[in-house]
Amino acid sequence: MPNARLVEHNATQFKKSVVELAPGMWTAVGYAASTQHMIEGKSSLAIVDTSESTGAAKDVLSEFRKISDKPIERIIYTHSHRDHISGAEVFAEGRDIPILASSTFSSDLVDQDNNRPAPHDALNRRTVAQFGIGLTSQQRISLGCGPGERPMSGLGAGHIPPNQFIANDTEIDLDGVTARLIMAPGETADHMVVWFPKAKVLIPGDNWYHAFPNLYAIRGTPYRDFAAWADTLTLLADLKPEVLAPGHTQPVFGAKKINEVLTTTRDAILYVMHHTADGMNAGLSMDDIAASIQLPDHLADKPWLAEYYGKASWSARAFATGTLGWYDGNPTHLGTLSDKQRASHMAQLSGGIEALKQAAFETEDLQWRLELCDHLIALGEDVSLLKAEAMESLAEVEINATARNTYLWEAERLRKKGET
Ligand SMILES: [Zn+2]
Repeated sequence: MPNARLVEHNATQFKKSVVELAPGMWTAVGYAASTQHMIEGKSSLAIVDTSESTGAAKDVLSEFRKISDKPIERIIYTHSHRDHISGAEVFAEGRDIPILASSTFSSDLVDQDNNRPAPHDALNRRTVAQFGIGLTSQQRISLGCGPGERPMSGLGAGHIPPNQFIANDTEIDLDGVTARLIMAPGETADHMVVWFPKAKVLIPGDNWYHAFPNLYAIRGTPYRDFAAWADTLTLLADLKPEVLAPGHTQPVFGAKKINEVLTTTRDAILYVMHHTADGMNAGLSMDDIAASIQLPDHLADKPWLAEYYGKASWSARAFATGTLGWYDGNPTHLGTLSDKQRASHMAQLSGGIEALKQAAFETEDLQWRLELCDHLIALGEDVSLLKAEAMESLAEVEINATARNTYLWEAERLRKKGET
């Protein structure tokens, strides 16, 4: 049985719905990995974010068309992640319209120039694993940031590059609706949030959603600036929004509630920074820092800080490497043993490879079993099925959707390997 809280998060936060935020403003939730927003002006519409696929965008547009048949005259991207920019062609409906984004658009992405060395294959594999692409719907119960089940046709196919770049905070007129575009680095450096001062509606992009913030994505990301994200959450709370329509998960209503979700999320980020910096200052190892992180009770009890998407222990590792790099201050780590060398020593200590294998089968500590399996694999032993089973067991209790999907996706590959 999968983690019940993860199942419930998926059922409630990604329930398909078009929610009215305020008169003339709607958000579509649950149709795609991300949310899309429609703003109705006097004689035209504006769309904020466009989903990850033309398939999902078509579904959303047909829902929006039940509300208004006015032409879409403007698209705004909150940031450059593919799940927000890949359905634009559908909303543009073949017309050449303004597409607005921050002047730092794309700054977060791994080097796209294929002529230079970059770990594109690793990124692709890990992205596919994180989102459980190829898993069954029973396996992939959630993306953490979006529903487990969603249209996959035209994935990544409908992107239109922005044609108007915003360098500084700007007030714009969306056909009679005043909006403020605010530079707000957070989950990415290129975030631009949309604030409607009259209706007090805030579209924060991915700087807030109902899950622990993804300060590090296991698909692989450049360092996300923790301090900037925390500062942005203060800035957003200071706007005193009465409606919050995040880039993932359901909208939040009520000034008091919104202030609470934004400030506690900021405090959770600050807590990770404090915990990690204190540990580093005390000379602790990265493993000990990651193993000991635990949000304080007044944050741990907040449903929106549960680790459905981001994870505190991964965030601690990201903060450490993002600030001081990989060296943890322990000179032991200045030298290197290869996996095989280390595994040989482990086998020798254990009384041989068979003894190591027996320990891997016998231990009830699943993390330790995985580590022993890795030693055995480094020594050329086939323990694919044992490792696959351990990952599948971990997946069942895991609250984090990206960890669950990755465990199951990698387990499938090992099972196939074990069969050949
Ligand atoms: Zn997103």
